[in-house]
Amino acid sequence: MTLKGIPASEGIGLGRAIVIRESDSEISNTQVTDINTELDRFLAAVERAKEEIKEIKETAQRNLGEKNAMIFDAHLLILEDPELFNMVKENISKGMNAESALDESAKFFETILSSLEDEYMRERANDIRDVTSRVIKILSHKEEIDLKSIPSCSIAVARELTPSQTAQMDKQNVRGFVTEKGGKTSHTAIIARTYEIPAVVGIGDITSVVRDGDFLIIDGNDGTVYVNPDESIIREYEKRLEEETRKKEELRKFLQIEARTQDGRRIKLVANIAHVDETDVALKNGAEGVGLFRTEFLFMDRTEPPSEEEQFQAYKTVLEKMGERPVIIRTLDIGGDKSIPYLNIPKEENPFLGCRAIRLCLAQQDLFKVQLRALLRASVYGNLKIMFPMISCIDEIIQTKEIMKEVKTELDKEDVKYSEDFEIGIMVETPAAAIISDMLAEEVDFFSIGSNDLIQYTLVIDRTNDKVSYLYNPLHPAVLRLIKLTVDNAHKKGIEVGVCGEIASDLNMVPILIGLGVDELSVSPSKVLNVKKKIFETNSEKEKMTIQKLVGTM
Ligand code: PEP
Ligand code: MG
Repeated sequence: MTLKGIPASEGIGLGRAIVIRESDSEISNTQVTDINTELDRFLAAVERAKEEIKEIKETAQRNLGEKNAMIFDAHLLILEDPELFNMVKENISKGMNAESALDESAKFFETILSSLEDEYMRERANDIRDVTSRVIKILSHKEEIDLKSIPSCSIAVARELTPSQTAQMDKQNVRGFVTEKGGKTSHTAIIARTYEIPAVVGIGDITSVVRDGDFLIIDGNDGTVYVNPDESIIREYEKRLEEETRKKEELRKFLQIEARTQDGRRIKLVANIAHVDETDVALKNGAEGVGLFRTEFLFMDRTEPPSEEEQFQAYKTVLEKMGERPVIIRTLDIGGDKSIPYLNIPKEENPFLGCRAIRLCLAQQDLFKVQLRALLRASVYGNLKIMFPMISCIDEIIQTKEIMKEVKTELDKEDVKYSEDFEIGIMVETPAAAIISDMLAEEVDFFSIGSNDLIQYTLVIDRTNDKVSYLYNPLHPAVLRLIKLTVDNAHKKGIEVGVCGEIASDLNMVPILIGLGVDELSVSPSKVLNVKKKIFETNSEKEKMTIQKLVGTM
């Protein structure tokens, strides 16, 4: 079977499918007639759960000590509790399936325990829930795959991969991603590109078509996915994979040299990172610095924000690893497609047009100040530049600078050191910011064009909606005009402009961006060498003429 989706990360991957199903909490509630079979099913699931708990207990004994591992003995006892057992059996004999019979019984005991005065006994209600949900997951085949130990040569298939799932996976073992949802600039796609993992997204019902263990070939260059293909296709793709590997080897000759166009214009080539460990990938590929550190990833998939100390350590590590190279750290960009439940942001009809990024930080200043404190403390460990996302008016910069001043005063009082001369900049990613870029350039030290959002907001296409991704066009004259306006205004005021959106990694767009006059490209760490090669092949003067044709008279 051959399926077609959106190519989201280049490359070819051959491997066995691992279908990652969503762990939904809904419990199936069906009537059963064969009571004995259902009882056996229940008992088998209990036995399996006991095995799992014993394994966890052994790991806990090794890592946390005997005392802390004792809780798992209590969990094992719950699975042998006669009262719970009898109630489940009674429910099953009434025709309930094992999942709902156990759920009902567990709820009964949970309610009794939660209403008791004694705190210790109240806590036991949680243990009952913990243990019974393990059994229910086993009964409904919803066990979570341990992504850290994904088998070698796997292709992960999912409705949608969360950024944390992709982050957890042992990337050495992953040969590709295929998802039902998402577009080219969804964060899963971005992470896939960072790690050079081929990815195809937007394939309707892939999780119902593909089974665990199916042999898949994914072509991240054109978006094709082959399910159990015949020998001739496998052989053809093995050959293509070999060719790709050879080309990668060739690119290594660009590793040590600075990027310059054919006609000698110097272009700074830096990398986008989302996690501290990607700094190594960036350095390995010859990046001259970090052009965008998406700090929101530090805040995701947890139950409370990272402390000032934790953030400080993360920023310090990246700065130290990069040495004298510049590191642009972007403050929290939450909202849009990145949500954080513990921040209690009320649900919005249009989150991309809502309380996102700098707007959220100005609304929740305590959260913002902790990040600024951590950044300022880290500023003495390298060449830090701080960048603010989704600016749409001058007032946001003025307010931000005010808060920064307050944070500095606080640090001064505490006698905490910070660098006096780090630069501050903004993302130009709203049409409003591009249009008033002459005014904004008075306020900051640099611009970085966030083309993912600039294109989304200019062309009015939700970047996560695959139904409108066909309208995504970075060459649309409206987009090019906004970029040109931004660059011209910045250069008039003597400040530099980078591009950190995905178009900076797009080899067809690199010459255009150079023609538009940008000073810096910030790209996926895995794309640094490809982009460098492209820069050497580009004649910036010639590209300027092309641009004139594309944007017309402004
Ligand atoms: C952008 O909008 O182009 C950008 C780089 O930021 P993000 O993708 O994180 O929104
Ligand atoms: Mg953006």
